[in-house]
Amino acid sequence: MSAAQLDTHRPVGRLAPSPTGRLHLGHARSFLIAWWHARSRGGSIVLRLEDLDVTRLREGSVAATIEDLRWLGLDWDGDPLLQSSDTVAMETACAGLLARGAAYACVCTRGEIRALSAPHADEEEPRYPGTCRGKFDSLEHARRVSGREPALRLCVPEGELEITDGICGPRPFNVARDVGDIVLRRRDGAFAYQLAVVVDDARQGVNEVVRGDDLLPSAARQWHVQRLLWLPRPRWWHVPLVQDEDGVRLAKRRDSTSLAELRAEGVDPRAIVAWAARTCGLEPGRGASASDLAAEFSMDRVPRGAVRLRAQDLAGLRLSR
Ligand code: GLU
Repeated sequence: MSAAQLDTHRPVGRLAPSPTGRLHLGHARSFLIAWWHARSRGGSIVLRLEDLDVTRLREGSVAATIEDLRWLGLDWDGDPLLQSSDTVAMETACAGLLARGAAYACVCTRGEIRALSAPHADEEEPRYPGTCRGKFDSLEHARRVSGREPALRLCVPEGELEITDGICGPRPFNVARDVGDIVLRRRDGAFAYQLAVVVDDARQGVNEVVRGDDLLPSAARQWHVQRLLWLPRPRWWHVPLVQDEDGVRLAKRRDSTSLAELRAEGVDPRAIVAWAARTCGLEPGRGASASDLAAEFSMDRVPRGAVRLRAQDLAGLRLSR
């Protein structure tokens, strides 16, 4: 039997937008790549709306996000999963980790953590020095002693690990050294992204993750969560983000590249598909839809470097009106 016959891997990919604002051309490209990667190999793809961080949600964004994806010509298998609609598995995962001593209650505030971190440490994300590790017997104990609602942190083991990524190649990370024990559940009770994504990818049977390369460091954190929960690890492809002409990555607040804006202007979604396809080494024929191009797509042809959205690309999209 040949190696090809032995490979029983059936791709299950996912689209996992956060409904926190309008999708833009950078999202469109990443989602098209994720979709083509699964569909071109006969795989399935699920849609999950990552709406756990209520502080960042926007009114109507769930429906708007689904509309944007449909407008691009994407589909998915089964009903979309609204992440907040079922958090039982996350609850169970946290309880199990806590019971096994692989997670602990932490009552530190952001300000306290920042004050303890080394000068010049990453302002956005200071390393957690482990102040509460081993301090409390339970969440209740932490509550009683501190008078605060505790967060839950994972005991991240010391040492380096290697993430194997289909685009970025093998990359070493040291999570304990760089960020310390990561948050699984916040002090306000919300499940943190790193836990939720791991639990829901497993629950939805996702075995291939294609997403922006800003999340590559997150893959290393998720690696630890997966290991401590005995969950299978997906294959990863982190695609370079789209930048503007000045080399700055596209942001959700920039209207000129938002899909909603382009749709309102009457741009043909197939022009966006064609632009994305060209940035992936494809030569789309006139009027080709996302699904017309699936057969031709190969991750091997996707350039490994950053993609710039030039003024002429935007002008080209507007010509499709
Ligand atoms: N929901 C995340 C975002 O929109 C992506 C999460 C993921 O792909 O793991 O940034």
